[in-house]
Amino acid sequence: MHVLAVASEMHPFIKTGGLADVVGALPAALAPFGVTVTTVLPGYPAVLAAIGAAEAVAHYPDLFGGPARLLRASVGSTRLLVVDAAHHFQRGGGIYSEASGREWGDNWRRFAALSAVAASVAAGAVADYRPDLVHAHDWQAALTLAYLRHGPRADLPAVMTIHNLAFQGGIDAGLFPQLGLPASAFAVDGVEYYGGVGYLKAGLFYADAITTVSPAYADEILTPSHGMGLDGLLGDRRGRLHGILNGIDTAEWDPASDLAVPVHFDAHDLAARARNREHVEQRFGIASGDGPLFAVVSRLTWQKGLDILAATIDDLVAMGGRLAVLGSGDPAIEAAMFDAAARHPGKVGVLTGFDEPLSHRVQAGADAILIPSRFEPCGLTQLYALRYGCVPVVAHTGGLGDTVIDANQAAVAAGVATGVVHDPGSQEALRSAIHRTVTLYAQRDVWTAMQRAGMEADFSWRQSAARYADLYQSLLQERTPA
Ligand code: ADP
Repeated sequence: MHVLAVASEMHPFIKTGGLADVVGALPAALAPFGVTVTTVLPGYPAVLAAIGAAEAVAHYPDLFGGPARLLRASVGSTRLLVVDAAHHFQRGGGIYSEASGREWGDNWRRFAALSAVAASVAAGAVADYRPDLVHAHDWQAALTLAYLRHGPRADLPAVMTIHNLAFQGGIDAGLFPQLGLPASAFAVDGVEYYGGVGYLKAGLFYADAITTVSPAYADEILTPSHGMGLDGLLGDRRGRLHGILNGIDTAEWDPASDLAVPVHFDAHDLAARARNREHVEQRFGIASGDGPLFAVVSRLTWQKGLDILAATIDDLVAMGGRLAVLGSGDPAIEAAMFDAAARHPGKVGVLTGFDEPLSHRVQAGADAILIPSRFEPCGLTQLYALRYGCVPVVAHTGGLGDTVIDANQAAVAAGVATGVVHDPGSQEALRSAIHRTVTLYAQRDVWTAMQRAGMEADFSWRQSAARYADLYQSLLQERTPA
């Protein structure tokens, strides 16, 4: 089966978050199930550099304001179709925002362009390529399904995956004519969303199946508090909604072989982690100490609850903890983290920016990772932490609750505890979770058992890839005329 995936980021070519990891890992995970994935990606400078010389397999004289080509490339076993459109994708700054952090004003057009090209491929724009199914990821790819349903291959099965419902993509109705969709698409049974155009809404409406990245989040988004305005539509389509837990790439994230990690280790040899911790301490300017070294590897945003953490750092230090923060985002949260570092020299260290190798080293050296998210569709950071013997301290929400087993008395006694779970959204709950963590850390046997239980848990793609493959197969059958 040939699946055409569409996404705005993909590891190892371009990454701002978990979306890239998932889009990057799924093709290899699906291969054993007979699924061949080709991914349509924007031709950002980093992507063009990664693919090198590539064959142009389609041309677009005017792709929303300029000429474009579609480049076909294989990098290792990864098959790509790259939208080479300089006017949309070759610019400095970030992939979604200017260097100042302000979103590009034409993101609506850039990702409509990505989606229109993807739909053209589904409809046969590449002479020797006929996908059986289209799989769009997040709002940037969601209009693919609108173009698909209003094009010559409207019958192709299509899947829409929600990685984060907080990002929906939308424009005023006045811009709708520029999207090149038929007027009939501007309807509630179409792309219209509260009088404007909703990109993710459109994808959810036109999809044969909607997936999201954990079973808990699939339930949560049906409620007004987590549905972000789309709970009504999702409720209408609940029979088509599937929560499939993200996996991790266990070859890339393997503490026994990770090239980014100074000293390799496994579940039977945790002592080596001490030297990795020293490395993290040095890098973040933190002195050694008896209490646990906590870490954050994250976007610094309200969603991630890191304002709550910032307000709890004095307590963390008072309890004997130390903290290394790797991340950037909301300027107020960044400033609060730097203030805390200034108040607690040698105890709290902050590095901003996006540093993939350092994120591996932090997981390999820190004792515990803090993820106090207000909501979390799946979360990958806690999965990497589990695999690296870095105990996750997480809010009970979305995929965090699905993947971390709280160290309550019964779970500790049974030897199944893997982390510390607390209520989301409250400073008091986070403070008490940090206190519990410090206490558990002091009980060396209990702590080591938690590390081992986490490291031995299976969060590989195996089971989840099988679920995607089954879903694809069932949609193919459903769409095949009897
Ligand atoms: P989200 O996609 O909401 O940001 P996830 O936990 O699903 O959260 O995925 C975050 C991904 O981004 C993980 O791979 C994590 O290691 C990585 N990451 C986050 N911040 C940084 C950073 N500053 N440097 C390197 N990697 C980071």
